[in-house]
Amino acid sequence: MIIDNSEVILSVRDLTADVDGNQILKGLNLEVKAGEVHAIMGPNGSGKSTFSKVLAGHPAYKVTGGEVIFKGQNLLEMEPEERAVTGIFLAFQYPMEIPGVSNLDFLRVAYNSRRKHQGLEEIDTFDFEDLVQEKLEIVKMNPSFLERSLNEGFSGGEKKRNEILQMAVLEPTMGILDETDSGLDIDSLKIVADGVNQLASPENATILITHYQRLLNYIEPDYVHVMSKGRILKTGTKELALQLEDRGYDWVVEEAVEVGAK
Ligand code: ADP
Ligand code: MG
Repeated sequence: MIIDNSEVILSVRDLTADVDGNQILKGLNLEVKAGEVHAIMGPNGSGKSTFSKVLAGHPAYKVTGGEVIFKGQNLLEMEPEERAVTGIFLAFQYPMEIPGVSNLDFLRVAYNSRRKHQGLEEIDTFDFEDLVQEKLEIVKMNPSFLERSLNEGFSGGEKKRNEILQMAVLEPTMGILDETDSGLDIDSLKIVADGVNQLASPENATILITHYQRLLNYIEPDYVHVMSKGRILKTGTKELALQLEDRGYDWVVEEAVEVGAK
């Protein structure tokens, strides 16, 4: 299938969402086209992780208004599993550990359910191992990680690399990475960034949620958004990220108040 470069993959309009009865997202707007990398930055507690979990369909987050269209479909009506097989991938800020399920099995099941959804035949263990071996290169991971229980005893850096491996195998249309840089030493950060860059293509898009500008030294976003109090207050290019590093976030919030946003 040939996909036009200007195709809108994700369109979020006036999205509002509650957690535990508190409104966290307060009218969020975002449009992501094929081939784009978007960074969402902003102070702690601004709702960045909430937004990513709402996109993934986490049951604790209740959407109260607005719409999310993903590849022409109403994302909010889809079950979390359906969202995943349709091509949304969320790398969690705190990846979960699943004792007893090997990393390889987890990847194979996830990969095959996506294939099934695409109308393709499932692939067997041997062929899958070949496929994964190739992908390991991207994150420079030791094959022994495949036999270990998912994320169990993985260091912070290993968990993050493992997420990039998952993304490399699943080839999502929309990859969402929440604080993938947090807790990474510089070598792991470069490997993760390099992996993200290698996986970026004209057919997919990436949302990088990050508190720090550091990751953006290695991944160049097309757009940088500043989120505060549940909405996107300002959008710019990577120069905005540099300004934020210099000046912090307060000025963006003040500027937004001046132009009439709440
Ligand atoms: P960020 O990722 O930008 O730091 P979050 O989305 O994690 O922000 O949090 C936004 C707000 O939502 C915070 O005030 C946080 O306490 C609240 N929140 C997030 N998840 C939950 C939850 N599961 N239960 C209660 N409050 C939550
Ligand atoms: Mg967060």
